[in-house]
Amino acid sequence: MLKQSLILILLTFFFSFGYAQQTKETKTILILFGLSPAQPAYRPILDGIRQKLTEEFGDRIDLHMEYFEIENYPKNNYPKERFDMYNEKYKDFKLDLLICVGRNAVDVIKNHGESYFLNFPTISVDFDYSNLGFNNDLRLNDQTAVVGIKINIDKMISTALSIFPTTSSIYFIGGTTPFDKVMMSFAKESVQKTMKDKTFTFMTDLSMDKILHQVNSLPDQSIIFVPSFNTDSKMVTYYNPEAIRLISRGANSPVFAYSDMGFGEGSVGGYILSFIKVGLLSGQFAVKILNGADPNSFKVIEQDYYENVFDWRELLRWGIPDSELLPKESIILFKEINLVEEYKWIIGSVLLFVLLQSVLIGNLIRLNKNQKIMTKKIIESENRYREFLHEDRSLRLGQLTASLSHELNQPLTAILSTAQAGINFINSNQANPELLKEILQKIVDNDKRGASILSSIRGMMKLERREKEKVNLNALINEVIAVYNNEAVRHHNHLNVNLIHEPVYVTADGIQIQQVLLNLIFNASQALEKAGTSNKVITISNSIHLDEVIVSIQDNGSGIDETIKEKLFKPFITSKTEGMGIGLVICQSIIEDHEGKIRAENLPEGGAKFSFSLKISKDEQKKF
Ligand code: ADP
Repeated sequence: MLKQSLILILLTFFFSFGYAQQTKETKTILILFGLSPAQPAYRPILDGIRQKLTEEFGDRIDLHMEYFEIENYPKNNYPKERFDMYNEKYKDFKLDLLICVGRNAVDVIKNHGESYFLNFPTISVDFDYSNLGFNNDLRLNDQTAVVGIKINIDKMISTALSIFPTTSSIYFIGGTTPFDKVMMSFAKESVQKTMKDKTFTFMTDLSMDKILHQVNSLPDQSIIFVPSFNTDSKMVTYYNPEAIRLISRGANSPVFAYSDMGFGEGSVGGYILSFIKVGLLSGQFAVKILNGADPNSFKVIEQDYYENVFDWRELLRWGIPDSELLPKESIILFKEINLVEEYKWIIGSVLLFVLLQSVLIGNLIRLNKNQKIMTKKIIESENRYREFLHEDRSLRLGQLTASLSHELNQPLTAILSTAQAGINFINSNQANPELLKEILQKIVDNDKRGASILSSIRGMMKLERREKEKVNLNALINEVIAVYNNEAVRHHNHLNVNLIHEPVYVTADGIQIQQVLLNLIFNASQALEKAGTSNKVITISNSIHLDEVIVSIQDNGSGIDETIKEKLFKPFITSKTEGMGIGLVICQSIIEDHEGKIRAENLPEGGAKFSFSLKISKDEQKKF
């Protein structure tokens, strides 16, 4: 059992190895051309065959080519020695495929009887004249795939006429070689039987010079057709595309050719035979046959190798680049790329984008300008505000000067008298270090007191913005009360201070908050003055409400004038002859800048109460 399995495995291995070897074998192919290598149609045919073979087999192709050059020998009399030479040369080759490419390559082989070349699968590529009344058998043996190329001059001319419908004259220009003459005779036959209403002129047996001279001045509404031109009457040989180029350049009318030879060289195009397609088709057949297909299984139809193709430059030259008369699905080649035309949507979009962007940029510039103006205005108004602020503060502090000088007088007098006492002690020799130390300490204490009064006034006079910091609100209030105290005494105001015992911390600009307090206290004092009450009381208190501290300055004065009550916090609203009406505006803006609120109310028992709220510093909130 084991032995049998082993044999089976070995057999499988050998078979698969053999198969792999077989599929990797090099394919030997011989192409026999009827004419010499100069034949212009050979290049596109050969290119097509090569392309398809390489696509399939890569470098596993052994390709040989021979040219019978039959144009150099009398018809039906191909020299036996030359043919035998090919027979001899290839007799040891194991050909996988023979490709015969016209003209008459198959006939040359057949005419030499028992040829070695008769033994292989064959592709025969040649003109098939059966539609023109001639029977040329393109088969070489019973394994021949035939790529018969039919010349359809009728359709070629009718297509040319359909795009130049007003044509009245057709000029046919042909060369002098037998093939040129055969092609000319086909053309003649075609037009004479189908287009009776046109004038035909057949220009044969002319030198190229003569031809060029004539085509230069053909009557209007003419077209030129060049069926084939290989040699002129002076026996000068022309490569067919070259002849078409010369004629087209010199002509005053559109030039047509029957095939893609000369296409791109000056022929307009039209319904033309594509030798490129013939080559690709032959290459496809070759691949299939080499892969085992039956050569007799292929059929070729005209559409396989004809196409409607136009040279855009020629259409432009004759004024019909966008003609609606061109057959549907025509191929237009050599179209000059007009960048604007080709990319009009992209260019349009880009332009639109640029335009929109410009508008946007314009708007931004305007906006920026407006913003600058606004900013300037804001700065100006802020400066004005700060000026007002300063003025208001100076005004208020000016009112304090009297009491301040009194306040300052105390420490200064104390310093003076203590210092004089010290001098007296020294003069009387009673000074001992302990006493002097005590005297000097008193001087230092009084000096500190004076300095602290001055610094709080200086701080209040300062205009610059300061960073908000955590400050004890109670301390701020007490400082203000200390500064105002003498003023209160002067006006017989009783200050009733009712503050929470614990320190209340807020994040604030202390000086600004003090200004608010000072403004409100002064207003209260003035309201008391106005009311002329005998018992003038200003109550300063604070209380906690959720996360806020509410500070109130209450008086039992005149109360807020009802006429201005609603617009109290608007600028320049005042009920005082010497008032500026900006004190409360400043207070409101300072409190709002601290995210607080300020409000005013008249008390039922008489007088007014102004309150403002401030947020308690976050880390202190839980205390209350
Ligand atoms: P000014 O003091 O220069 O008038 P303010 O903005 O400080 O400007 O005050 C505006 C007005 O508000 C005062 O003129 C006054 O009529 C009224 N007012 C302010 N505080 C009080 C108060 N405590 N009692 C009554 N009226 C007040």
